[in-house]
Amino acid sequence: MRLDDYDPGDDIRDLGRGGGGFGGGGGGGGMGGLLIGLLPMLLGRKMGCGTILILGVLAFLFFGGGMNMLSGGGGTADPAADSRSGANVACDTQAERFACNVFGSTHQVWGELINGYRKPTLNFFTDANRSGCGAAQSAMGPFYCPADQGVYLDTAFFRELEQRFGAAGDAAQAYVIAHEVGHHIQTITGISDQVRSAQQRASQAEGNAYQVRMELQADCYAGVWAARARTAAGQPVMEAGDMEEAMRAANAIGDDTLMRSAGQRPVPESFTHGTSEQRMTWLRRGLQSGDPRQCNAFDTAI
Ligand SMILES: [Zn+2]
Repeated sequence: MRLDDYDPGDDIRDLGRGGGGFGGGGGGGGMGGLLIGLLPMLLGRKMGCGTILILGVLAFLFFGGGMNMLSGGGGTADPAADSRSGANVACDTQAERFACNVFGSTHQVWGELINGYRKPTLNFFTDANRSGCGAAQSAMGPFYCPADQGVYLDTAFFRELEQRFGAAGDAAQAYVIAHEVGHHIQTITGISDQVRSAQQRASQAEGNAYQVRMELQADCYAGVWAARARTAAGQPVMEAGDMEEAMRAANAIGDDTLMRSAGQRPVPESFTHGTSEQRMTWLRRGLQSGDPRQCNAFDTAI
């Protein structure tokens, strides 16, 4: 990818390692993660099979249940104030710098597309810290917290993306960030609130189905960013091979693929992010059209 340097005026923090663990308050408030619905599986990998069930219950209470939570706003904690290790310098590693540059590029694209656009914040953390939506755990994968309008990222996920999910390359990483910014767009446009209130009246399975559409829309928005993004010199951000890298990442983190690779039979009612096929379809839709109106995953078959 071809990216300009980020704007140093952007609100980017490195929260470091907070050690908050699960004690983060649990105000899930509809966090929009890349993988959050699959937390038990991902943790299971690190902690062994015996704890998967317990963690699954915890995950439902803290995260999965957040999709149906009554409190639309989640917590109000200030992550900077909560961080016990104090703030580190943001954008100071290669991975962080790349994320900062992608982040900066998303503002340009969305600032032109959306009236009254407000930038989200970008919050790096290591292993575990806190967000305005409760605990931030690196095993959750990157996520967006609507309560504080922050994108949360442990850049160790980039390594995971390459080594565990087989999705190498800068465009795979950029897709992840642009997807989270997509959730910010949904917050600004009010889609997130509409979905959350619909979920409150829905069964768990119906609630998951809404969530899948949210995630597919965020994938499509990631594609819209990639299609429209230009450097200051007017060159497309996407280079040869980048589209394939991004698609490979979307393929790798489909619910069906993740469940299969965790040794489980895919259960469509439990999907929260969509199948690999669906994620690739909606990312492609954004990439090929560059038009956010093509990303309405709520009024069409997915
Ligand atoms: Zn998401």
